[in-house]
Amino acid sequence: LNTKLNILIIGQGISGTMLSWYFQQANVSFKIIDNNIPNTASKCAAGLINPVTGRRIVTTWMIDKIMPFAVNAYHQICKQLNIDVVREKEILDIFATQQMQDAFLNRVAEEAPYLSINNIKIDNLNHHLSVGTIAPAYIIGIKKIIENWLQYLQTNQLIVNEVYDEHLLEIQNETIVYQNQHYSHIIYANGVATAQSKFWKNLPFAPNKGEALIIKCETLNENFIYKKGLTIAPIGNQQFWVGSNYLWDDTNETPTEKFITETIHYLNETLKLPFTILEHKVGIRPANIERRPFVGLHPTFPQIGILSGMGAKGTSLAPYFANELVQHIISNKPLTLEADVLRFSKILQR
Ligand SMILES: Cc1cc2nc3c(=O)[nH]c(=O)nc-3n(C[C@H](O)[C@H](O)[C@H](O)COP(=O)(O)OP(=O)(O)OC[C@H]3O[C@@H](n4cnc5c(N)ncnc54)[C@H](O)[C@@H]3O)c2cc1C
Repeated sequence: LNTKLNILIIGQGISGTMLSWYFQQANVSFKIIDNNIPNTASKCAAGLINPVTGRRIVTTWMIDKIMPFAVNAYHQICKQLNIDVVREKEILDIFATQQMQDAFLNRVAEEAPYLSINNIKIDNLNHHLSVGTIAPAYIIGIKKIIENWLQYLQTNQLIVNEVYDEHLLEIQNETIVYQNQHYSHIIYANGVATAQSKFWKNLPFAPNKGEALIIKCETLNENFIYKKGLTIAPIGNQQFWVGSNYLWDDTNETPTEKFITETIHYLNETLKLPFTILEHKVGIRPANIERRPFVGLHPTFPQIGILSGMGAKGTSLAPYFANELVQHIISNKPLTLEADVLRFSKILQR
């Protein structure tokens, strides 16, 4: 065991899960505090890793490194937990307009990676234009990974189920004390709640709410992720995750009627198959204006760290940056500059 280090981690979403897993791999002792609230981003996400982004279909930031890294990490943690929730899929990008089809065709002509054009007709979906294919893409059962890792943590007394209260945190020379326990570092991996911390509140967080429906559709092919405005993603047992919206002005955890009405309308228009609704999920994305994660140590208090700001891409980003932060703490390896929270040194020292 690395005896100089003893880490307190706040939050066990996908960020805190991967962070603690890498600390364990490095033989560093840690303890997690998580309040186990139901509507977190990680618990409602599809767990999709999509290598291209947005209307212009550009390659996602750092994806050539991050995607294989994440897939490998998820395979390893699943092996340790004896579960199997890593699924490689193709995304079928079903063009709603001629303009979208042209944009995709242009990107294929430019030989953009991950894209190809597919002239198939998808039997059970209404569409009148061609279909673009994005591959490989993945669906990771992050909720299951988090639940199974929680069981492991509980069995080994590495997690407590309570609300972390920053007022109880004492900063000493180079360490911290929380509830009479000394730690070398505290790391905030508590999603949107990180923005409430007095140490991190100046970061440009831009939280937004997202919703999804879980539906059952007996005969829809589970080999594909269907994207046509909303995304229909297979999550096993003929169940599909359907989402999502982005609400910046409404960040309470209440599901909206509007989303449910519009999504049912969308499914009725898109799917030629009967479906039933099983669940309506909601979560707040820990997004930020720059769309780059917040990773690293505080400029004034280097015993205080952060792994947050994952936005809409926690499934892809969390493994890679959790590992970077762990390597940074144990052997001072440099962090990716665009992710390093020291890019905000000035505002963090205010
Ligand atoms: C509808 C929706 C769909 C999404 N789909 C995808 C997707 O397909 N692919 C993808 O990559 N990303 C997706 N995302 C984004 C993804 O969910 C987030 O990027 C990711 O889950 C963030 O993880 P996190 O661990 O940083 O934060 P969180 O998941 O918010 O976890 C924070 C944890 O901290 C705990 N906590 C908070 N405050 C305290 C406190 N004071 N004391 C103790 N514990 C505390 C919470 O209980 C929680 O467990 C989606 C998000 C939404 C809302």
